Amino acid sequence: MKATPENQRTLLEIADLDRRLLQSERARTQPSQGARINELAGVRKQQLGELTALTGVLDDARAELKRIESDVALATQRRDRDGERLATATDPKQAQALENEIDSLTRRISMIEDTELEIMGRVEEAQNDVDAQQALLDQTQTEGAKLTAAAKADIAAATAEGEHLTRDRAALAGTVAAELLADYERRASRGGIGVGLLRRGVCEGCRMVLSGTDITEIRKAASDEVLSCPECGAILVRTEESGL
Ligand SMILES: [Zn+2]
Repeated sequence: MKATPENQRTLLEIADLDRRLLQSERARTQPSQGARINELAGVRKQQLGELTALTGVLDDARAELKRIESDVALATQRRDRDGERLATATDPKQAQALENEIDSLTRRISMIEDTELEIMGRVEEAQNDVDAQQALLDQTQTEGAKLTAAAKADIAAATAEGEHLTRDRAALAGTVAAELLADYERRASRGGIGVGLLRRGVCEGCRMVLSGTDITEIRKAASDEVLSCPECGAILVRTEESGL
């Protein structure tokens, strides 16, 4: 195939844009924060499960405390009522019975209050556990929100860069013969190397040193002849840097 040396050189610029386009596409679809954001989603789920369990423990302790408080209130009420009745009792037998009941209620109230103290301690402990877990969760959510915002900004920047590069590429592609551009794109497809500059006997597409025989052949070729790298199959572009 024939193509002007200018057209051939333009392919190098197009290849450079294609490389940058690939990078910006990767930055757009796979932001660097992605792995950590996914990791945090897993951590958040686990921490949320833990928080739910700890909140359950706290709720149970609070319910138990409420029951105990109502037990104390009931026993106290009853003892007060017995006290009032004792104050007005005339029958000694009845008074004795009331005194016995007041004693027994006092002992009972004292016992329930001990249990109440113990349960209050458990409520406090459970509340501390819930608070600590909530703090962990908040930390995870703050980090996640920060990373998500950063990823969004990176994606927006990569998208804008990609659009910019696409415009530049279209402008350059418009200056190259369609047949040559198609040839480059065919060679570059499926991860192949589309074009390489020959610099001091080395193909910059594949970094291989070309043999003396190859260089001799290249020297003989007309400047508008489209050459291929014998190593990687890329279009081999000659410039004054080629050392021919
Ligand atoms: Zn090569």
